[in-house]
Amino acid sequence: MRLGLFGGTFDPPHDGHLAVARAARDQLGLDRVELIPTRVPPHRHAPSASAPDRFAMVALAVLDEPRLVPSPREIVRDGVSYTVETLERLATQRPEVEPFLVLGLDSYLDLPNWKQPARITELAHLVIAPRPGARLALRGEDRPRLAAPGAHTSAGGPRRVFVLEMEEVPLSATALREALARGETPIRGLCGPVLRYVRKRGLYGVEETD
Ligand code: ATP
Repeated sequence: MRLGLFGGTFDPPHDGHLAVARAARDQLGLDRVELIPTRVPPHRHAPSASAPDRFAMVALAVLDEPRLVPSPREIVRDGVSYTVETLERLATQRPEVEPFLVLGLDSYLDLPNWKQPARITELAHLVIAPRPGARLALRGEDRPRLAAPGAHTSAGGPRRVFVLEMEEVPLSATALREALARGETPIRGLCGPVLRYVRKRGLYGVEETD
């Protein structure tokens, strides 16, 4: 099975996330793309919404999306969510799965700062989505130092790096949280069910409504 793994804080999940997940699913013929909210993200400040709320919002966002599924595989684990551990577990528990790790370009450029980046690239193919503000530096100090070319995934085949062909989506969860806190309307970039959930739960400083 070709499985996409798309991790993130999803605080909240927005149309940029959905565009990336759909493009990965369709362009790489993935059987399924899991959207995986992190419990405690290692690379950033604590999320605003709780892990159960972020999981619920991801589930609502993909409700009508074929082959996009919410996954609790990181929020059910204790402690910091390290991608390398998620991939190691998957390789042990389901060795038949061919994993494709989906990342926005900003995250890909940060990969050298993650735990065991070379091991990550041995365990999964990488699928990179363009993102406004992030540029791929082909030379120079910014270039991520990854495993040597020719490394193999645990499934045995050569590991590969794919770049998705898609329009950049100028959305970030940070900007959306700020817009929600300011009481801005309309809010663009959140699907209806997620926006209703945010209002119902009074997340991000939004006044609670029934
Ligand atoms: P925040 O603004 O809170 O940092 P975010 O919008 O970057 O959040 P995350 O949940 O941190 O969202 O991102 C999860 C993954 O989705 C990361 O790999 C990130 O690069 C990617 N991503 C998020 N938004 C976009 C976007 N608009 N275009 C492409 N990739 C994106």
